Amino acid sequence: SRQIVLASRPSGRPVPDNFRLEEVPVPRAPAGGLLLRVLYLSLDPYMRGRMDAAKSYAAAVEVGHVMVGESVSEVVESNHADYKVGDIVLAHTGWRDYAPSDGTRLRKLDPSLAPLTTGLGVLGMPGFTAWSGLHLIGKPKAGETVVVAAASGPVGSLVGQLAQMVGARAVGIAGGAKKCEYVKDELGFDAVIDHRSSDFADALAAACPRGIDVYFENVGGAIWDAVLPLLNTFARVPVCGLIAQYNGPSGNTAQDRLPRTMREILSKSLTLRGFINYEFADEHYPAFLDAVSKGIADGRIRYREDITDGLENAPAAFMGMLDGKNFGKAIVRVGG
Ligand code: NDP
Repeated sequence: SRQIVLASRPSGRPVPDNFRLEEVPVPRAPAGGLLLRVLYLSLDPYMRGRMDAAKSYAAAVEVGHVMVGESVSEVVESNHADYKVGDIVLAHTGWRDYAPSDGTRLRKLDPSLAPLTTGLGVLGMPGFTAWSGLHLIGKPKAGETVVVAAASGPVGSLVGQLAQMVGARAVGIAGGAKKCEYVKDELGFDAVIDHRSSDFADALAAACPRGIDVYFENVGGAIWDAVLPLLNTFARVPVCGLIAQYNGPSGNTAQDRLPRTMREILSKSLTLRGFINYEFADEHYPAFLDAVSKGIADGRIRYREDITDGLENAPAAFMGMLDGKNFGKAIVRVGG
């Protein structure tokens, strides 16, 4: 059985040496617990934060320990009354082939309802993040303008589509022509801007002639600079992610934006509200699943997945995602 551990902590961008692939004996199911075989592993931007020593909203991965992560897994041994061999579950297994489980923090998936991989993306944590941040914090109304970056990814793509479902205008920001084309033509956003183009800020302003009412913050840095002057009075900003600064200060992410940001918060009565999706899960997960499953079934919601083959390729796919090389929800096929 293979596992990928944190070999050393990155300084700045992660490099291959920060990861190590190890061979270990297949673990046993604990008394009262289960043995899981990982089918699909999710790669998510938050994992970059876990590689640092500093405690964020969750504990760091220790050097030498298995990288954390959610997966779609199959129960291959069960000493637990609620699970039988062959059940498919969402689990916090980490980056490995097999994982023991005590039976907590698992969610059963029904393979007949949707492709299994959707449990890691549009119908899983990223989808719920989009749904909860937009509806519970952003609260867009018909006719308003909603802007979101990383617009071809699992969070951003759903934010824009949900915004349109309440009658708002969706403006996406994405990196490169291929992603922009997808966001505009296949997801149907009202407009899309390439953040790598030299006239990015002007193009964003032109795409938002009536300003911005909801900015769903996924990135920070240069994108925030372009958005801030366009925010309307009483605009709402769900602060979901700051991927431009996850690798630490570099280039223009090191700038001090606080004075300008505070002035705009005051003078335009802005609401900035950070959130971690699970604060809303107990109360709202069923409503999200119901709404988004229906949207997928009737074709109003589309999604895209970027599946890499083989656990050994997880580090490269993960490092690529932080650089925008993924095109859709980043997933690794481990045993699926
Ligand atoms: P994505 O699959 O969209 O991957 C990240 C994308 O971010 C890249 O593909 C790239 O897209 C974009 N990106 C990376 N660096 C930059 C940069 N410097 N400037 C602009 N864009 C950049 O990820 P997710 O949909 O899973 O996550 C999106 C955001 O949501 C992340 O910030 C993540 O941390 C956050 N998040 C927060 C949660 C919460 O509970 N608060 C839960 C889940 C996610 P492109 O090529 O288009 O630039």
